[in-house]
Amino acid sequence: MRDIIIIGSGPAGFTAAIYAARAQLKPLLIASSVEIGGELMNTTEVENYPGFPEGIMGPDLMTKFQEQAERFGTEVVYDDVVELELDGPVKRVKLGNGDEHEAAAVIYATGSAYRKLGLPEEEVLSGHGLSWCATCDGFFFREKTIAVIGGGDSAMEEATFLTRFASKVYVIHRRDSLKASKIMQQRAFDNEKIEFIWNSEIAAIHGTEAVTGVTLRDTVTGDERGLDLDGLFVAIGNDPRTHLVHGKLDLTPEGTIAVEGRTSKTSLPGVFAAGDVIDPHYRQAITAAGSGAAAALDAEHYLAALGNENAAEAVLETEFAVIT
Ligand SMILES: Cc1cc2nc3c(=O)[nH]c(=O)nc-3n(C[C@H](O)[C@H](O)[C@H](O)COP(=O)(O)OP(=O)(O)OC[C@H]3O[C@@H](n4cnc5c(N)ncnc54)[C@H](O)[C@@H]3O)c2cc1C
Repeated sequence: MRDIIIIGSGPAGFTAAIYAARAQLKPLLIASSVEIGGELMNTTEVENYPGFPEGIMGPDLMTKFQEQAERFGTEVVYDDVVELELDGPVKRVKLGNGDEHEAAAVIYATGSAYRKLGLPEEEVLSGHGLSWCATCDGFFFREKTIAVIGGGDSAMEEATFLTRFASKVYVIHRRDSLKASKIMQQRAFDNEKIEFIWNSEIAAIHGTEAVTGVTLRDTVTGDERGLDLDGLFVAIGNDPRTHLVHGKLDLTPEGTIAVEGRTSKTSLPGVFAAGDVIDPHYRQAITAAGSGAAAALDAEHYLAALGNENAAEAVLETEFAVIT
């Protein structure tokens, strides 16, 4: 039986692995069979991850995360977890290839998925004018004309935030009224740079190297027209990847995994969760990485209490560092 199995290969999973591996716990990290490295694999330049003053490409950053985790002895398996048995002292993790692994502790770091429009151009233009994250990419759109798709609180927040950079922000919404709270709506209505395009959906995104515009379809009449744009932000929701733990772990009203206070402790002993799957608000690489570190430290404490000597030593070292 293993000490720790980590599920997910984004910033949260690999950071948890770095900590657990340095504590001699020889973690097994299940990376997924398709999206190894997590969401940053879908982006180009990351400019807000500390330590890289010139910026770094998302996939390059995640390669470094993995190299650092492997350097200390993390074993990475390129498969998907398909089933989990989490209650009881022995946790069982079943993979797509049929293999089963057992561990005393599990760190669940499967991230969350931004909802997509379902258009073929999305894959090609992601990171090239098409974004799901205003905080990450707003800076690239200084004095540009852009659009935000969506009608909820996050769409209003993103549109308002983006007016700090863009010269013009269209909000495209498929209905004639918004779902967002009144205060968020009013803030957007009061902003001179924001213009609403009602009853409209995106029929196509234009551009080969980068976004140059969209085809809008009127949801009432079906009429189509073009709109020139330099960038497009999709803000139609986000789904934490929790399907494997439904009915097993407590969830929050937002659909994220519930954890105890600022810890990573879930509703089951020995099961810890980290990153975007517990975070309905910040969803950044740095916050996910920090949360992965916390999960590994929480798991070390748990294993130390079970009598694991390496974990106990790691806990002592951390506590010594806090005292001195
Ligand atoms: C296009 C884009 C650009 C972004 N740009 C930035 C940026 O510039 N700066 C920034 O700070 N943040 C950025 N973000 C946000 C950032 O990527 C996320 O906040 C961060 O990746 C979350 O890390 P995570 O480890 O929690 O989850 P993720 O990165 O989502 O990783 C989760 C991992 O778990 C795996 N997984 C899921 N289910 C299973 C399973 N059943 N079995 C095995 N593995 C599984 C997934 O395949 C994935 O590899 C961006 C996001 C997107 C989508």
